[in-house]
Amino acid sequence: MPRLFLIFALLFTTSAMAAAIPATKVAKVNDRIYALLGPMELPNKKNQGYMVNSTLIIGETSAILIDTGFTDEIGAHLAKEVAKLTKKPVKVIINTHHHGDHSFGNAAFPDAKVISSEMCRKLLIAGEGEWLGIIQGALGRKLPNTRAVPATEVYASKTKTDVTLDGVKLTFWVPEAAHTAGDMMIWLPDDKVLVGGDITVNEITPNFRDANVKLWIETLAEVKAMPAKTIIPGHGPLMTTKSVAKLHQRMAKLYAGVEAGYKSGLTDGEIRKKLDLAEWKPLHHFDEQMGGNINKAYLEIEAAAF
Ligand SMILES: [Zn+2]
Repeated sequence: MPRLFLIFALLFTTSAMAAAIPATKVAKVNDRIYALLGPMELPNKKNQGYMVNSTLIIGETSAILIDTGFTDEIGAHLAKEVAKLTKKPVKVIINTHHHGDHSFGNAAFPDAKVISSEMCRKLLIAGEGEWLGIIQGALGRKLPNTRAVPATEVYASKTKTDVTLDGVKLTFWVPEAAHTAGDMMIWLPDDKVLVGGDITVNEITPNFRDANVKLWIETLAEVKAMPAKTIIPGHGPLMTTKSVAKLHQRMAKLYAGVEAGYKSGLTDGEIRKKLDLAEWKPLHHFDEQMGGNINKAYLEIEAAAF
């Protein structure tokens, strides 16, 4: 009995001592669109897993929130941020992809309908345990209320669908694959705003973990040609088609470098030493991610060669 009490006491102390969720940076895009910019560090005890950008779109009678954070607590934090900007209730949640940092906060919006790509729904259900493990490991505590809440309205791969939600025109753009096999971008034609999810990231090293790098680069070529005034990235400050063009060029150059190395018989470790990565080095998460990224591109090129 005393031992059990000790465990409860420890659990209580751990959650009581959890750091506060860092403040959201609100960037007003226009009268009805706000980017809710999260911190840029990878999930840790200090940021409590808060690392994602969300987008608030205010409709005629309700609000749409795109991407909800890594935990139900971050979802609740975002709900409070939204309430400061509009009194209209969040009735629709959209997930740009299945990764926990974008989707696990859905649980904080029980009254909202969730929309995503068809593949995002599948990957979110299949990957729930893995992503829960990642965030509980990073925070060093259990998250009993964080879980996958998959979409009930889904859009198929390789489609662009025009919809009007509560007076807001949107195009749901589901590429074949890019950052994941189930990304969805949201284009607002009247606002000339694109919500790119992690296909578009700014000032951080993109994460190739679940990517199809070749198709991602092809998708970025399409994004940079869009008539967009503002692009809201999945992480980092707001972008323009110009900064997307830079990301596209950097990724295409990296991929070509890995491909050239592969063709000349080098291993991915040897390629890493040979590549000029100077333009990547100033980006956040370079040390954590670049080795894995080169390996992922290498494996993709190798698989395509067979
Ligand atoms: Zn992300």
